[in-house]
Amino acid sequence: MSNLQPLKWTQKNLNPLAELELTAYSALHEYVITEPKQGRFELKKTRLSRPDKKSEFLENFETVKEAKDWAWAHYQRSMQPYVVPTTLADAVRILVDACHGASVKGGWWHDLATGEPLQRNKLEMISLIHSEVSEAVEGIRKGINDDHLPNYPMEDVEMADALIRIFDYIGGHKLRTADALVDKLAYNANRADHKPENRAKVGGKKC
Ligand SMILES: [Mg+2]
Repeated sequence: MSNLQPLKWTQKNLNPLAELELTAYSALHEYVITEPKQGRFELKKTRLSRPDKKSEFLENFETVKEAKDWAWAHYQRSMQPYVVPTTLADAVRILVDACHGASVKGGWWHDLATGEPLQRNKLEMISLIHSEVSEAVEGIRKGINDDHLPNYPMEDVEMADALIRIFDYIGGHKLRTADALVDKLAYNANRADHKPENRAKVGGKKC
């Protein structure tokens, strides 16, 4: 996230002969980098609000920078629900992370038997996006509520399903849609065939 301050690392023990022990804090976590074996670095991650929960140890970083980069990436991921997006592209990235993250966690991007990453079929995934939009059409046609979330119209929930699949697709295939969306909106704002006066002419775009 562009509006997060970088983690500030401090050497806990000021004795220069002492072992390496770098510490940084985010609003949510404490990160500690140590060097238990020469040339191998370990990162300990502790959730500040959950002292009952065990710290997580991540080992085998070859450099301090690698461990710091991991902590920075984790910090950005974990802060996303709490950070107000500063740009439209940031907002799209949050949605991509939330939807694709939930899908990865649900095991949709790995072979359930082997744990190996899956090459998802793009055409199949896009077809499933179509199917969610078609379900929204059905909801409008019948005027009924969703069967899983009966307090919402089926149209609202199926559009949410379509968005979840779209953002999962963007995240899983590492598309640059967040930036493309900003550029396309700017392009559309200036294109002649989208101006109301030209759309009103004979042959102008009606929808
Ligand atoms: Mg659906």
